[in-house]
Amino acid sequence: MTTEKNKLNVRKGDTVMVISGKDAGKKGKVLEVIPSKNRIVVEKTNIVKKHQKPTKSIPQGGIMDQEAPINVSNVMLFCSECNSVTRRSMKITGEGKVRVCKKCGHNLPDKEKK
Ligand SMILES: [Zn+2]
Repeated sequence: MTTEKNKLNVRKGDTVMVISGKDAGKKGKVLEVIPSKNRIVVEKTNIVKKHQKPTKSIPQGGIMDQEAPINVSNVMLFCSECNSVTRRSMKITGEGKVRVCKKCGHNLPDKEKK
């Protein structure tokens, strides 16, 4: 299982719940994963005000809300099937490994599937 070693448990598109910090209890979709820093960007979580310089698409500039990355250890996977935080488990099927919810066995959505 060496290929799994440096991978984070969450992937882009997963739903996670924040378990610590000022946004604890918030749920959101993972927008971005930064494996080298063990950080992820979660939708509507850890919002920071960012000064936006005027650009062609936003000519007036101003202060924008933007999600800042949070440490992956501050979140847990959230399973919409059993409606609770869970851990990822791997299940071997005829087509290879799939990620499933450890609690209910429901397949986790796999956005990276080719
Ligand atoms: Zn589940």
